[in-house]
Amino acid sequence: TGDLYGKVALVTGGSRGIGEAVALRLARDGADVALTYRHSEERAERVVERIKALGRRARAVRADNADPTAVRAAVKTTVAEFGRLDILVNNAGAGVLAPIEEITAEDVDRVLHVNVRAPYLACQTAAGHMGEGGRIVTIGSCMAERVAFPGGSLYATGKAALTGLTKAPARELGPRGITANLVHPGPIDTDTNPADGPGAEAQRSLTALGRYGRPEEVAATVAHLAGAGGRYITGASVAVDGGFAA
Ligand code: NDP
Repeated sequence: TGDLYGKVALVTGGSRGIGEAVALRLARDGADVALTYRHSEERAERVVERIKALGRRARAVRADNADPTAVRAAVKTTVAEFGRLDILVNNAGAGVLAPIEEITAEDVDRVLHVNVRAPYLACQTAAGHMGEGGRIVTIGSCMAERVAFPGGSLYATGKAALTGLTKAPARELGPRGITANLVHPGPIDTDTNPADGPGAEAQRSLTALGRYGRPEEVAATVAHLAGAGGRYITGASVAVDGGFAA
């Protein structure tokens, strides 16, 4: 649609899966894009090359969400490199599924650091650099709305916390013309949750559409929220879940 020309986006976890699709879509819509990754440097650089081939600027930054300094630094690197920051997509996240009695205190710290503390710090740091028209989009999960099977206590707890990280910044940053929204994907075909994986059939059967989603289908909604169409949407949770929560 091309309404992001001149904008700069930062996508966390942009080397694979949903984050990769979001980074490419925002670039196709005109944005320059920085993306973070944890291990997959080669994959991240491949995404960067594809964005550059679209005529946009791109940069990959290694930043483990577990490290608060690295998360803040990734925001600052983006601003230093591209001169501004308009769109933050908090996408990087860890999934952990296990019976509640098997979850350790260390598991709780690790998952909440990656899935909650890092998006919080990214949001806080990014907001300091955003002006009128700034956009914060966080990737939650359908499990924040409907926990349809056992084992999700820790993952769902962290993802549900992102509602606070959406509604409160929407209120606080609204007067500056900055929006904050949450996207809840359903089962999306990625390395973490492959459509031919062991739990896939159960997840597919819980959707209304009877199928897995594609990363591009989540990216389309992120692009809408980040673009002109999202101007009057803030503090909202949007399910892109094939009716998983219906
Ligand atoms: P993938 O496993 O396909 O990709 C994960 C991406 O996040 C990679 O770029 C990875 O980097 C990065 N990443 C993972 N851990 C960290 C970390 N600690 N610090 C920085 N980057 C990290 O995941 P998905 O695309 O499936 O998931 C993306 C988001 O969507 C997550 O927040 C997930 O919870 C959410 N989600 C996914 C669903 C699904 O069915 N797929 C359903 C609901 C929500 P690297 O390549 O270096 O490992």
